[in-house]
Amino acid sequence: MFIDTHCHLIDDGHVIDHVDAVLARATDAGVGAIICACADPKDIAIAPEFVSGHQNMFTTLGIHPEYADVDARDIIKPQILSHPRVVGVGEIGLDYHYGRDNRNAQIKLFETQLAMAESAGLPVAIHTRDAEEDTMAILDNSNVTGVLHCFTGSWDLARHMLDRGFYISASGILTFKNAAAIRDTFVRIPHDRIVIETDSPYCAPVPHRGSVCEPAMVVDTARVLGDVMGIGGSELVQILRDNTCRLYPKISLVE
Ligand SMILES: [Zn+2]
Repeated sequence: MFIDTHCHLIDDGHVIDHVDAVLARATDAGVGAIICACADPKDIAIAPEFVSGHQNMFTTLGIHPEYADVDARDIIKPQILSHPRVVGVGEIGLDYHYGRDNRNAQIKLFETQLAMAESAGLPVAIHTRDAEEDTMAILDNSNVTGVLHCFTGSWDLARHMLDRGFYISASGILTFKNAAAIRDTFVRIPHDRIVIETDSPYCAPVPHRGSVCEPAMVVDTARVLGDVMGIGGSELVQILRDNTCRLYPKISLVE
């Protein structure tokens, strides 16, 4: 079974519409476990209970840099991070794509959540966009490890973070026609450091581009990732699953 290590089934404080149909399609496609990431502060309160209602579903709690004006300590209390289904802190990070006006606020939110992850002993799921230098500098000052989610960065960033013990996550972007540079980067990443995700509802892989992405589509990304890694079938499934379980040690899968 594949594990979709990062998707958004909760948004704006609500579980998505028709979630049962989405999950049924994922099961039919061979997706055996799902990690729901939080981005919106409103998602935090409902995510642990939602994932607890489903077998092999877990969550990472975190506030995306888009909400840089909030204080994470008001929203993510230490006790919620010890919930058995909360396996990490994320998605957190830096995003300067729309400008650097709130750079300081983003950095503060990021550093606060890194400290929370460190105190809780949890790995982090990192979002970084047009902010590689600051991301590396800040993570170098922290003792956490984790994953660069939906990786589209440079080989320099990948290598730096691999040296720090991080994993690198492939999303549907890996399948895009214009993503040859990203595929080339994944060729260079050691097999034991790669995980896979959909980041649904965003970034639907080929041949679903233009439709709403959902966890079932992780198998389309897996096909391309398998080509890039030079492996396939049960070997690919096993490697990705072992990597995910090392990355997120709190995951306990029901067979
Ligand atoms: Zn995401």
